[in-house]
Amino acid sequence: MKDIKKITKQELDALKVVTFDIDGVITPVGTKIRETIDEDSIDLYMESKKLSDKFIENLKALEKHIRLNFSSGRNILYLKSLVNQIFDKQTILQAENGNITWLDNKITHPVYPDEYFSQLRDLKEKIKQIKENDQRIRGFEPKFFILTVHCEQMEKIPNLVKQISGDDLYCLWTNEGYDIGSKDMSKGKAIVNLAQELKIEPKQIMTTGNNYNDQEMLELGKGVTVEPERIKAEYFIKHQPDQLGGELLVEFLLEYFSKK
Ligand SMILES: [Mg+2]
Repeated sequence: MKDIKKITKQELDALKVVTFDIDGVITPVGTKIRETIDEDSIDLYMESKKLSDKFIENLKALEKHIRLNFSSGRNILYLKSLVNQIFDKQTILQAENGNITWLDNKITHPVYPDEYFSQLRDLKEKIKQIKENDQRIRGFEPKFFILTVHCEQMEKIPNLVKQISGDDLYCLWTNEGYDIGSKDMSKGKAIVNLAQELKIEPKQIMTTGNNYNDQEMLELGKGVTVEPERIKAEYFIKHQPDQLGGELLVEFLLEYFSKK
């Protein structure tokens, strides 16, 4: 791995898109979810972090030089509202670990067979049963194509996924729960598809990440890890515990592009 400061002029000039993972990269980690289900209602409480004002200003400046993409395990509504202040026709969103892409004002997604949705439903029902007697499970985040359980790290969940789906589904720990979904789609595949749509090479898309669900896109794109201890990439960006790697990367890129 190389320090991002070692990236060459050629590599930077080739870039067309920069892709930001959200949690732990451009916002502090920590989304709180609590779901309570009783006889006649489902109450869902969700609290997430916002982008900093300075970062939003920097994104507006960077957008003049390069297209911005936001790729997350989160749902598309959350992504849209997170970046609403800078959202325009140039903005790209990739939600639910690559399953939903908003590009040029159009949403695309893979078509899964009925069995896939049945598997997710069965899993959700089983996890709900466990939740009744297990305080470690806090609730489910609303999603279309993946199942996201907010809970403590507990072997029961990945074991259950294996038991129900064999090797068909992934079950990735996200620091606040598990993302469960089809191995046919990932943030990485979404980057390759995006490159195809834009008629560029995947390496012309800079990718950032801090977690296991970012691994493929860090490998396929021009990867910059903000958590080199956990996840590897061609480049890493150094930051203090109270700094966000994605914010520093934007400052670094702005510095370069504004001098061009
Ligand atoms: Mg992350």
